[in-house]
Amino acid sequence: MKLLEYQAKALFEKYGVAVQKGVVIDAPGDEKIRAADLRFPVVIKAQVQTGGRGKAGGVKFAETPEEAARLCGEMLGMDIRGFTAKELLVVEKKEIAQEWYASIMLDRYTKSPLLIFSPVGGMDIEETARTSPGRIAKVPIDPIRGVKDYVITYAMDKTGADKQYRDQLGGIVEKLYRLFFDYYTMLVEINPLAIDTGGKLIALDGKVEIDDNALPFLSDVSAWRDKLQEDPQVIEARKVNFLFIPVEDDGDIGVMSNGSGMLMSCIDLITKKGMKIHAALDLGGGATAERIAEAVRIMLGRKAVSTVFICIFGGITRCDEVARGAVIAMQKPEAAGKNLILRMEGTNKEEAGRIVAESKLPITVAEGIPNSVEAIYRLKYGEGKGA
Ligand code: GDP
Ligand code: MN
Repeated sequence: MKLLEYQAKALFEKYGVAVQKGVVIDAPGDEKIRAADLRFPVVIKAQVQTGGRGKAGGVKFAETPEEAARLCGEMLGMDIRGFTAKELLVVEKKEIAQEWYASIMLDRYTKSPLLIFSPVGGMDIEETARTSPGRIAKVPIDPIRGVKDYVITYAMDKTGADKQYRDQLGGIVEKLYRLFFDYYTMLVEINPLAIDTGGKLIALDGKVEIDDNALPFLSDVSAWRDKLQEDPQVIEARKVNFLFIPVEDDGDIGVMSNGSGMLMSCIDLITKKGMKIHAALDLGGGATAERIAEAVRIMLGRKAVSTVFICIFGGITRCDEVARGAVIAMQKPEAAGKNLILRMEGTNKEEAGRIVAESKLPITVAEGIPNSVEAIYRLKYGEGKGA
């Protein structure tokens, strides 16, 4: 789950990383801005779960409360790369001398937290990475030792950062590192980590990405979820304990299975055959007819899905239940014109086949995943082309 800037900054504050004073606005008008008693000028920032807001018109400056209120009115509801700004963060503008970059992410290669640091941060950090890679340091942090002095020293020396800020930077990285672990994050990022005209380091922006699997432990963060822009199908699925994963916007196949490993195998084989997945749905355990039908209904909530593939393997899952669920789902109006491919393994498989056959619905029963993929291919492109 990607937090909004003001949510990330609330966590920064909790850990003692300096941020600007500000207020979150979710409706037009100037009362809230005035009540916040901010020093002007201010910065108005669209709260969306994507970066690059500055370049997309999502960061504006205002000299007076009137100007701020006017800009807020314009910016509320604005679209930034497909995300709608339902909230704005208004903060006191900082006079800054430099923009640095600092982040910690989980690195698959070193299997450890990785500090990425640059004294050339800000909106053009990608440019820095391309043109002056020497000014970016990537330093693995040994999880047993933690953020030792040499981590900071190395990062600063390698990138030619001004060492007078060494202690400040060390303090901030240490705090970020604690936040990184405590909140099960996959990424914590400050860009820009600005040096103000008084020589103090301050987080002007904040990005925090949290592992969804940890949300049950994080009640404060879970409460923020309502403020995030989420897919209606993701929300609907979560309510009934399914995991819905949008894959490719221009895909037209919806895959569902009772396990993420098998789901990935299905996705791999379908993709290898040159077809595109629109979304995947993990049914989890206990595939009753009602749950199968519910899952198909949620999947068909995506107009782009023309073919649904259900792949079930369960020692005790009753295939007749799965078949009944598929039949219920395919009788619904939203299933008109859609195809369903069913691969199942388990008890009462024969009866399941009968149920499907008797239904006379566009449901194809296939044996094993490779055969199912062939069946999907033939359905999409007709006979003869299937290899
Ligand atoms: P992003 O484009 O989504 O990463 O949004 P940021 O919060 O990073 O803002 C974009 C840019 O606006 C920053 O890199 C700064 O250059 C500038 N900016 C944002 N807040 C302030 C501020 O308080 N003072 C100054 N001087 N510049 C700011
Ligand atoms: Mn930024």
